[in-house]
Amino acid sequence: MPAVRIAIIGAGPSAFYAAAALIKQEDVEVRVDLFDRLPAPYGLVRYGVAPDHPKIKSVANLYEKTAQDPRVRFFGGVEFGKHITMDNLRPHYDMLVFATGAQSDRNLNIPGEDLKGSMSATEFVAWYNGHPDYRDLNPNLDVEGVAVVGVGNVAMDVARILAKSYDELKVTDIADHALEALKHSKVRHIYVLGRRGPAQAKFTNPEIKEFGHLQVADAVVKPEEIELDPESQKTVDADRLTRQNVEFLREYAARGMGDKPRKVHFRFLVSPVEVTGKDGWVSSVKIERNRLVSTPDGYMNCEGIGEFEELAAGMVLRSVGYYGVALPGVPYDKRKGIVPNDHGRVMNADGNVLPGAYVVGWAKRGPTGVIGTNKKDAEETVALMLEDVKNVRRVEAGRDITDLLKAAGCAYVSFDEWQQINAREIERGKAANRPRVKYISLEEMRAS
Ligand code: NAP
Repeated sequence: MPAVRIAIIGAGPSAFYAAAALIKQEDVEVRVDLFDRLPAPYGLVRYGVAPDHPKIKSVANLYEKTAQDPRVRFFGGVEFGKHITMDNLRPHYDMLVFATGAQSDRNLNIPGEDLKGSMSATEFVAWYNGHPDYRDLNPNLDVEGVAVVGVGNVAMDVARILAKSYDELKVTDIADHALEALKHSKVRHIYVLGRRGPAQAKFTNPEIKEFGHLQVADAVVKPEEIELDPESQKTVDADRLTRQNVEFLREYAARGMGDKPRKVHFRFLVSPVEVTGKDGWVSSVKIERNRLVSTPDGYMNCEGIGEFEELAAGMVLRSVGYYGVALPGVPYDKRKGIVPNDHGRVMNADGNVLPGAYVVGWAKRGPTGVIGTNKKDAEETVALMLEDVKNVRRVEAGRDITDLLKAAGCAYVSFDEWQQINAREIERGKAANRPRVKYISLEEMRAS
């Protein structure tokens, strides 16, 4: 049997774990092509993981090994819906795998959310990580207060980057434009707003711990906001990691205000209810105090109690979760923001499997879990692909996608070319004692 030809749309972590699982198995011979809209591979590892977390980024070394396998090709700068589509890929590939992640974010649905200075944390993250689409975001850092809504790890990332000194940031691979802007930042107070209590916070231990060791910022916690109700106490007693989160917060509460110039205020049991503005720009955030309410299924919900407070803030970063967008011609579950699927087999609107189409990662299960979570997730999908392989409609031999791309005028970036760009970024970093200095656009990458 000729090798099974597989196209993976997206080249982030879930795509690479799927490719790795496909080439690792020995039952079926495969050829795997990865396509990414951006010229650089690795998705959120390059454009999402915080620049001051280089260890997490080192997973790219594993992906690189996968990409170097002769059975795998990378095509950067190829956009699904523009250069490639469901229809034009089908004659070239036996199987398609969607690994497009969750490219948008959730809204707060409160008045004033669209004022200038209010944006999603994901945009801010993409800006400081040098994502080409966000280089011109120009967040206004000429403000004293910033409200970060949500207490997940993305909220921790953006709050920490805002809280760090130039000296702490200049040794990272943060985008040059962001480094320069943050150097002149006037931000003094960062309010991280959790709608529920500390026992329900989504951040993880290392992330909250880091706030105790920042050069120029203190973590500030109001003791009364981290008192535990009996239900939350049970959660804390039963779960070591939650307990540790609460212990870090207690330590910060005991330290008081501290004497560093910047403050990261961790607030709990508060929800933003309105963003207020002046001259079209955010000027403050009105928050309402909440109480926890236990639901019959054991979930701890929250509801407002009618007590309000105004926080002076010139910027609002909503960090309330990513959200997957629809891909042209691909089934989409709007409520969940995912490609509807059964353990990775794509499902049509009529509830039947769409033959030869699969999904992995956040596009499959929604925006949860750490990078490593995608390994098991991708392996589950690949196991189903191998089960299906004998029944799948095979394409004619002899066609190669490069002909189609060339005919479409798509000057894609190959993995070899990416490696040269990568080497040049690392070289640029050496002089400045940084892991790399990123190029932002394809033009810059190619001109370098
Ligand atoms: P997340 O972990 O789901 O956190 C979202 C936060 O937003 C929660 O605190 C949630 O509170 C809150 N929220 C949702 N709707 C809200 C609303 N309407 N008003 C106020 N608060 C609201 O999402 P994330 O931070 O975007 O992270 C996504 C995934 O990436 C997570 O699995 C995360 O661990 C991972 N990640 C990992 C790292 C790392 O390992 N260092 C870094 C970044 C991201 P409720 O709990 O009350 O819903």
